Amino acid sequence: MSEIRTPAALEAAVRACVEGTAVLDIHTHIYEEAFGPLLLRGPEELLIYHYLQAETNRVIDDLTPQALVALPREAAARQVWRELYEARSPLSEAARGVITALRRLGVSDIRSYEAILARFAGLSAAEHIDLVFRAANVRAVIMTNDPLNPTEAGVWMAGQKRDRRFHAALRIDPILLDWRATCERLVAAGYAVDRDLTAATYPQIARFLTDWARRMGAVYMAVSLPHTFTMPEDSPAARILTHAVLPACRELEIPLAMMVGVRRRVVPELRDGGDGVGRADLSAVAYLCREYPGQKFLLTVLSRENQHEAVVLARKFRNLHLFGCWWFTNNPSIVEEITRERLEMLGTSFTPQHSDARVLDQLAYKWAHFRPILVKALCEKYGYLMDEGWYPTEEEIERDVRLLLGGEFERFVGR
Ligand SMILES: [Zn+2]
Repeated sequence: MSEIRTPAALEAAVRACVEGTAVLDIHTHIYEEAFGPLLLRGPEELLIYHYLQAETNRVIDDLTPQALVALPREAAARQVWRELYEARSPLSEAARGVITALRRLGVSDIRSYEAILARFAGLSAAEHIDLVFRAANVRAVIMTNDPLNPTEAGVWMAGQKRDRRFHAALRIDPILLDWRATCERLVAAGYAVDRDLTAATYPQIARFLTDWARRMGAVYMAVSLPHTFTMPEDSPAARILTHAVLPACRELEIPLAMMVGVRRRVVPELRDGGDGVGRADLSAVAYLCREYPGQKFLLTVLSRENQHEAVVLARKFRNLHLFGCWWFTNNPSIVEEITRERLEMLGTSFTPQHSDARVLDQLAYKWAHFRPILVKALCEKYGYLMDEGWYPTEEEIERDVRLLLGGEFERFVGR
């Protein structure tokens, strides 16, 4: 146990720990090989991701937003490459991310579109997954799983899931937020539910959720909520949450993850790229934490303006775990601010980042971009302690980094 005494030694030790610790990525949208076409991967998928389509849409005049998102994959990817990588430099975080991912995954001539495509040609899904997990130094990921997607349900029903690096989370958005359209599908699946949410319907919804969570081995249930989310409230969503979702979570003893702050379809023509952000009222979260002390909640918020309030809430409630810098907050300047703020008020009792990767290759850049920010934030905090004669050891730094990169989450969920 040798103490670290100089800023240079601190920087080297923190960097080595942060780079060398394999991450548990607690929220992604990627899939293991068994899910076939649901696993998006490769340079074309990277380029047509909706972040980049939204940025391309800003700089073209010859295609409407509808026509842009309707382009076939190959043409769409070339269009994005032309506009964001040839007509101008890829300075935005999403555009830069593609370059980082491609480089980390072995593309040598990063200016050549043909060389980029050639690097991934013929790579099997299994090889691709291994390559990306190694490059990103990720030990495991949690997927986002929707039993109402027939392709996905088929894989689960056939018991094909095999890869132990991939864990499940049960996505409940359609049930909670679009009950009128979803109830027929539960009926078709053999659950006696009623569109009008009769008293007998809630236990049936809960049974659907517990059946699927058990089938998947779900680590948590997850929902992304609009900025207008309110609790308590007399709405279908609030009633389903209270009478079906929370009882099911209780029975399963798993957390409910809430991702709060989406303003859906600001520009509907851009599809996913057309969603925006709204400032939420987090008193809904405070209400849930207080009323359900035995229930654990995971929380990430989309609006920068909600971040401070979210950290303060997490200080109050031990059943609330803050995680990640989500979507519009996943930019280095904001990630740094949020991470420092959380360290300052929560110590190590939060999970500073998740990748939210929807394309496998994105794992490589999300973690490559986050690690240096964590190094910087930790060096600042350990540095303050050293100024007063508290010298950390390498073992202590390793322990703290392990907590931040998945360990604290595992403690929180009891795994
Ligand atoms: Zn997500």
